[in-house]
Amino acid sequence: MTDRPRQAPMPASLRQGRPPRHPALTVRCPHCQAAPDMRCTTRAGRARIQRLDPCPARLADWAQTTAVCPHCQVAPGTPCHDSGIQRPDSSPVHAQRYTEATETAA
Ligand SMILES: [Zn+2]
Ligand SMILES: [Zn+2]
Repeated sequence: MTDRPRQAPMPASLRQGRPPRHPALTVRCPHCQAAPDMRCTTRAGRARIQRLDPCPARLADWAQTTAVCPHCQVAPGTPCHDSGIQRPDSSPVHAQRYTEATETAA
């Protein structure tokens, strides 16, 4: 019983205004099943803890859905590839596509 999360009082400055929502929250998370507009969660013990950032799988899904890939030139909704070869699950989307998706969402 040493891994209990510590509860720190929230500073007043953090309560004012809403933090900017990550644009990837518009898609469902394929990893933790968070619905659109819901934050990703992670499991610690039996509790579900809200993640600060979306799961990597959700970011990849969002980038793929939203943006044309500047690297391999595929259309939104089409998975990235390297010269016709599917990308590995650990890195399914080219890094440039995240940047492109962020600019599309802005
Ligand atoms: Zn998630
Ligand atoms: Zn690509």
